[in-house]
Amino acid sequence: MLTIGSHVSFNSKDQLLGSVNEALSYGANTFMFYTGAPQNTVRSKIDDTITKKALNIMQENKIDYSKVIVHAPYIINLANNKEDDKYDFSIRFLKEEVKRCEQLGIKYLVLHPGSHVGLGVDIGIDNIINALNIILNDTNVVILLETMAGKGSEIGSNFQEIKRIIDGVNNKQNIGVCLDTCHLSDSGYDISNFDKLLDEFDKIIGLSYVGCVHINDSKNPMSSHKDRHENIGFGMLGFDNLINIIYNPRLENIPKILETPWVGEYPPYKYEIEMIRNKKFDPELKSKVIC
Ligand code: FE
Ligand code: FE
Ligand code: ZN
Repeated sequence: MLTIGSHVSFNSKDQLLGSVNEALSYGANTFMFYTGAPQNTVRSKIDDTITKKALNIMQENKIDYSKVIVHAPYIINLANNKEDDKYDFSIRFLKEEVKRCEQLGIKYLVLHPGSHVGLGVDIGIDNIINALNIILNDTNVVILLETMAGKGSEIGSNFQEIKRIIDGVNNKQNIGVCLDTCHLSDSGYDISNFDKLLDEFDKIIGLSYVGCVHINDSKNPMSSHKDRHENIGFGMLGFDNLINIIYNPRLENIPKILETPWVGEYPPYKYEIEMIRNKKFDPELKSKVIC
């Protein structure tokens, strides 16, 4: 069965209940959220009674909660230890984020590996490994390293770098990978032959490490290193290629998450999910979202 959803909001008042209801309104059977604004560290206390209500609704609607994803805030950078206090902050904040996932009962936490900001890939990777081993020493939460577009000094824009990080992590059951279709193409992988790409991933890392796939079209051609997402079928990846990825039998049980841009003030996810379920591109999608 296709497990598909999108990024949804998580606000301090409705928390997980708001997120579930938003996902259901899109016709989704999974979802991903930030536990607070991704660009700051303000986090409200998690209310367990709200979580319980949300879990009941998920059960009624056959949402498999073990596949629901949290995305770590992008202010965290585990690769940069130029300043002790900033590096320590990233470790501490991610540790708290893992605790929040535990309290919510979330299994998968997606993380951008980090940017080495001039320190070089080797030092950056060492910093990430060191931090992950502190964070993952006593938890059931699995951190999924996201494949990156290679913007600036981002680490993780190729499978070899991700593999080096995984090799350094002590608790292998706590580490995995999130493939992002826009990032893969932007970083130079040809997503039009996805089985070949999966073969390469399997050879270097191992397909069993994949815990999530971000489904995004890209505004830019392959190898552009730009990381600008586009709505499904409206970018350089194209609808057919994305459908082939979404329905690839080797990724059948993996949750697929849309992080495509809103159209004006409106989320496109209900229409994109419908289009994906129908396997038919709708060139009028954007005008439908707006009205
Ligand atoms: Fe991401
Ligand atoms: Fe992503
Ligand atoms: Zn991105």
